[in-house]
Amino acid sequence: MTEPLNALDLSYEEWIDVSTRRWDLPRYRADQICQWIYQKKVFDVHEMTNLSKELRQKLLYDLLILPPVLVREETSRDGTKKFLWQLQDGERIETVLLSHGSHATACLSSQVGCPLSCSFCATGASGFVRNLSAGEIVGQLLAMERRMGANIENVVYMGMGEPFLNIDALFKSIFILNAPKMRNMGARHITVSTSGVVPGILALADLSIPVRLSVSLHAPNERLRTKLMPVNRQYSLSALMKALKTYQDKTGERITLEYIMIQKENDHPELAYELAALLSGLGVYVNLIPYNPVDGRYERSEPERVRAFADVLTRLGIENEIRREKGTDINAACGQLRLRTAERQAGTEPSGT
Ligand code: SAH
Ligand code: SF4
Repeated sequence: MTEPLNALDLSYEEWIDVSTRRWDLPRYRADQICQWIYQKKVFDVHEMTNLSKELRQKLLYDLLILPPVLVREETSRDGTKKFLWQLQDGERIETVLLSHGSHATACLSSQVGCPLSCSFCATGASGFVRNLSAGEIVGQLLAMERRMGANIENVVYMGMGEPFLNIDALFKSIFILNAPKMRNMGARHITVSTSGVVPGILALADLSIPVRLSVSLHAPNERLRTKLMPVNRQYSLSALMKALKTYQDKTGERITLEYIMIQKENDHPELAYELAALLSGLGVYVNLIPYNPVDGRYERSEPERVRAFADVLTRLGIENEIRREKGTDINAACGQLRLRTAERQAGTEPSGT
C-alpha cells in the first residue's frame, strides 16, 4: 500500500495531480477539498459533506490533515496572542498573533529553533533542531484561524527560525497561501523577514509572487553587526547592501528594515548618522523596535535615546517609525515561550512562575 499523503504539504499543482491520477477524480474535487481545508478550516474528512461517503472513506485512509496541536495560549494586555504548538514528532514551535484594530498579522515560524545564534534572540539561544515543512508552516496559520474563528489578513515570516535557510519549504508555503483555490492570500499581505541571508534575498527578487521583504539590520557597521549577529561573518553588511540594491533594482519594492533598540549597544546617535549614510540611495523604511529583554544580557533603550536616534534619521531623510512594544508581558519576542516551557519541563524554573 502507498503511504497516505500529507494534505497540508501539497501545492495546488500536486492537488490536481493527486486527485486526477491517484484518486481518479475530476479536478473540481481537489478544489472542494482545498476549500474545506483552506477556507472553512475543516480538517476532519467526515465533515466534508459535499463529498460522497465512499470518497470520504477513501480519503480517511489516504489523506492526513495534520495541523499543529495547541499546547499553550497566552494573551497579552495589549491583545497580542502567543501560541505554542506541538508537531507530529513532538517538537514545539511558536506563533504570535498581533492585532491592530480590525486587522491581524500572524507571525509564523519557519524552523524549530535557529542556527544563527543572534546574541539578543531567545530562539537563537535555544539552538537549531530542524526545518519545518511547508505544511507545518501553513498549518500554523490554519490552526490559528480555526481557533480564532476568522481569517487573519497578514502573514510575516518572523517567528522562530531563519526562513531563507529553509527556502524550499518557505517558497512552497508562499505558493500555498497565495493560490486562489487554496488560502488565496494576496502577495502584498505576505512578508518574509531575514537576518540577511544573501542568496535568499536574491532568490526572492526572482520569485513570481511579489511578497514583501523585511531585513533585520540592527547595526550600521560590520563590527557591531558581527557582534550582535554572527551571520554577518558569512554574509557581510556590504554584501547584504549590495543584495538589497539588486533586489530593489529588480522589484522596485521598498524594503523594511528592522532595528531593535538595545541600550548603549546600537542606539548611539552617531550610529544613526552611520545608518543614514549606509541607507542613502535605497528605498527603505526603518522600524525602530523596542528590544524585548531575554536573559539579562541587554537592556531596552530608554525612550529618549530612541527618540534622539529617530530624529537623526528623520533629519537625514530616512523614513522611520518608532514601534510600540507588543506583548512584552507575555514575552512575545520570538522563541521565548518555547524556551520558557522547556525550562519549566526540565525543572530549571521554580514552579508557579
Ligand atoms: N530569522 C529572521 C526572522 C525571525 S526573527 C530574522 O532574524 O529576521 C524575527 C524578528 O525578531 C527579527 O527582526 C529579530 O531581530 C527580532 N528579535 C529577536 N529577538 C528579539 C528580542 N529579544 N526583542 C525584539 N526583537 C527581537
Ligand atoms: Fe535566528 Fe532571527 Fe533569532 Fe537571529 S533573530 S537567531 S536569525 S530567529
